[in-house]
Parts: sequence; C-alpha cells; structure tokens
Amino acid sequence: MSQLKLTFYDGAGTIGGNRFLLEAGDTSLFLDFGTSFKKEAQFFDEFLKPRSTAGVEDLIELGLLPPLEGTYRKDLEVPERRIWERFGGRPQYRRFRPDAVLLSHGHMDHSGYISFLDPTIPVLTGTTTAFLTKAIQDTNSSGQEREVCYYSAREAKDGILRTQRMAPNSHRKFTLLDCPQNSQAEQGFWAECDSSRGLEPVPPTLCDGPEMAVGDLVVRYFPVDHSIPGAGAFAIKTPAGWIVYTGDLRLHGSHGASTRKFIDEVAGLQPLVLLCEGTHPGTTKPVAESSVRDRAEEAIAKEPGLVIADFGARNIERLLLFAEAADACGRRLAITTKDAHLLRALEAAGEEGAPDLLGDRRIAVYARQKGSIQRWETSLLSRLEGISGKVVTAREMRDDPASYVLCFSFYDLPDLVDIRPAHGTYIYSSSEAFNEETHIDLDRLRNWIAHFGLVLAGDPGDRAGRGREQGFHASGHIHGPGIVELVEKVKPEVLVPIHTESHDFFEQHFGAGQPAGGPGHLPRLVIPHEGYVLAL
Ligand SMILES: [Zn+2]
Repeated sequence: MSQLKLTFYDGAGTIGGNRFLLEAGDTSLFLDFGTSFKKEAQFFDEFLKPRSTAGVEDLIELGLLPPLEGTYRKDLEVPERRIWERFGGRPQYRRFRPDAVLLSHGHMDHSGYISFLDPTIPVLTGTTTAFLTKAIQDTNSSGQEREVCYYSAREAKDGILRTQRMAPNSHRKFTLLDCPQNSQAEQGFWAECDSSRGLEPVPPTLCDGPEMAVGDLVVRYFPVDHSIPGAGAFAIKTPAGWIVYTGDLRLHGSHGASTRKFIDEVAGLQPLVLLCEGTHPGTTKPVAESSVRDRAEEAIAKEPGLVIADFGARNIERLLLFAEAADACGRRLAITTKDAHLLRALEAAGEEGAPDLLGDRRIAVYARQKGSIQRWETSLLSRLEGISGKVVTAREMRDDPASYVLCFSFYDLPDLVDIRPAHGTYIYSSSEAFNEETHIDLDRLRNWIAHFGLVLAGDPGDRAGRGREQGFHASGHIHGPGIVELVEKVKPEVLVPIHTESHDFFEQHFGAGQPAGGPGHLPRLVIPHEGYVLAL
C-alpha cells in the first residue's frame, strides 16, 4: 500500500483553481482551495451565478466542486434535496473531512472556494494572508462564494437556503504559521465588521515555532515573493518524505531574496516531491519591479496634468513603487478606499515595509461621491478626515491634477466624469488580457481613455499582442530560467508541474531522455490532469 497519495482536483493543466489533496497515514490536507475561473466561465458569467438558494449543489452538479461529502458547510445543503444520494454515484465521490487547508496566498484562484468548506476545518497560512482575506472580503460584495475569512450561516426553509436572520457572522478557524507578535491592534482589525449583523470574532491560533504538526504530518511555512504581500510556500513532512508546494512565486520582485531563501532551505530537505508552478515559463528575461518604477517615474515626469496609475487590484508592491515614483516627481499618490483598507490590513498584520496610512504623507485617499458608503469606508474615512489633506475629493483633483497620481482601475473609470481631466496620462501597469472578456474590457478602457483625450502609457497591445509597450508591468510569476534553477537546486525525486498550461516546457527540460538537469540529477516528471491521483 502506498504511504502517500496526492489527488489533483483542479489546478492541473490550467492556471488557477489550485486544489490538491495530500493524504498520508490518517491525515489529509488540502494545498489551497481556489476558485477555477476558467471552469466557472464555462457555465457562468457576471449575471449568471450559481444559485445561492441552492448552496453547494449547483457547483457540485457542474463539477466545479468535487463530490466530497463531509468536506463542505452543512448549512449550504438543502436537507430535503438529499444531494448526496444523487452525487454519491459520481466516480470521485468520497465521504471524508480533511484535517486542514494550507493557504499559500490571498489571490482568489487559491483561496476562493474555501468559502464552501466546513468552517471547522482550520486554514493554515501566514498572518498577512489571513488579514488580507478579511480585508478583501470586507470590501467585496457579499455572497456565498466570498466567505473565505468569515461567513453568515444559512438556514433551509421551504426547500431553499437563506441567511439566518439576526445571526452574527462567524470567523473560520485560522492558524498563523509565521509566529506573529499578536497585538491589540491586530485583534481590533480582525474583529471589525461591516455588516449590521456583527461578527463573532474567533482569534487566530498562533503557531509557536517554524513547524506545526497536523496529525501524522509536519507543516513548514516559507515566505516567498509574489504579486500580493504575504505569499507563502509549504513543505510537508510525510512518512514517505518531504512534499514541497511552491504556491505562486517569483525571483524578480522586491522580495526575491525570500524566494531564494525558500529554495535553499527546501533543497536541504531533499524532498520526494516538488509541486512547482509554471505560469510563465516562456518568459526568459522578466521585467523587474524596480524597472517598472523607473518607467513610471519617466511617464509621470513628462505629464503636466493628471496621471492615472492602473495596476490591478491588491498589487500593494506596485502601489508602493508608484508612491515612490510620484514622490520623486513632487506628487502624492491618491489611492481608493479599497486599497486603503488593504493597507490597514497589512499594518494590522505587522507586514514588513507596510506604509503607515495615517502618517505617510506620500499617500492620500480618494473619496468618491457615493450614495451609500459602506460601514468599513465610513470608519476608514472618519479616521482620515482629521488629517489635513489626507482625503481628496473629485473636485480637489480637478482643481489641482498636477499634485496627484491617482490609482484607478477599470471599475473606477466612471469617476472620471466628476474629475474631468483636461489633460492627462493613463499608465497601464497591469497584466495583458487573457480571454475574450478581458479583451472586451480593454476595448472599453481604450474608449474611456480616448473620450477624455488621455495619453496611454504601457499599451497592452491588440489581441495578437501587437503594439504592446513593454516595461510598465512585471509578472507575479517565476520565469523559465528561474524554474530550471529552482528544480536543479531543490533536486526532487518527483517533479509535478501545476498552475500551468505549459507542459511542453517541463517535458523539454525535465522529460525522460533529456540530459541531466543538475549534476547527475533528473527528476521523475509527472504531468497531472484533473482528477489524477499520484500514489507513492
Ligand atoms: Zn497568485
């Protein structure tokens, strides 16, 4: 009988939706439990969603969630629909409850479907990631697929699910693997709640050392560099050997040294298996974050009017680089309330290098005109309004555009109607379009830019990538030569590419018949597909 089993429920042969089940002895762990945006898009869109009144049923029916009885929230099942009588016949059906889920970072393609898990299953992660899941949930619209950090219980009535009246939200069980110094301030942020129903806070459990035992296994957490703060990788000690999971990482960001440290440390473990991300192996020379900063500064320096910086959601590292570039040009960075709330989460988590939102004079917060401001925004703005010049309105932006770099992205564009820039530059510092919907969004963005007569810097190019202006965006993922370096240093016995559509790259460098990658070492390459089970 094998000592170790890895089941690839998703995230194999595709980018995102990582959900890998590791089982050894009597213990089982999920490595991430993310949303598969690609698969969801096969059935749903912005206006066609799984029915919240049916809980997990639509998602299991369509294969978006595997049929694992005992793994999901009980309150997301309608008892009289007896879904497990129907799904019990599916080939992947099992009745079991995992012991924990290891969460590598806060991107939804790694975290989103945690929303559906039984809330008593502990989420093991780093402090910053835990706090970011809260901030992201606070600032998003509510819904059963957005309950990664806390949830509101549902009750079944007349064959449908609805939110329990008056019941407060509850936290999931989080365990912080990076031994944080938990302060009162942290507890305050963790316990704050936007909803009138309140939040019954469950303080995170703190890990008292670099390793944590989970049943028969030992989990080790490593900070790595990625395009969201707090990203981590894991090594899990099993009776068969160490299993290393990279999550998403890169070498060319501001914290590339932490990724190198991870590589050196796991090499010392002589792992049996390496699950290695391969999102962008085609890149040979990645654009570094530091050069994005320089290009941004050039573009800002040239513009006498308004500068808009668009770097996508939650890319705090890019935000800080733009704050530096703006400051070098005598401007302040005006961020949205959503980004300001994320900065608060970083501060509360004690993230190194997190700016002090109240005290950092380089950063202002743009307050848009809104009919109904949410509770988290009210509390944020009331803290800021006492500080002179900290909150900027559309009117102030219109009167003095040369004093700011405004951080906007696609969904903020209607506010340009209030700002009415007479002249300006729009710096596109985000990833290129990757599917038809994002191409259509980019077409819309171009129309807004043309309507207001703005100059576009960092043009993402047309559908074939023609006309792309390089240098304004750095990828969040490790480049091809970096992957080769990682595998050659770590020297796993078994190499499993994940979070990738580029199996050819791995075949070419590590497939059978290739010259040894490192000195005398070539791993056994295993290419998983959805549902694949690796037994060792
Ligand atoms: Zn990611």
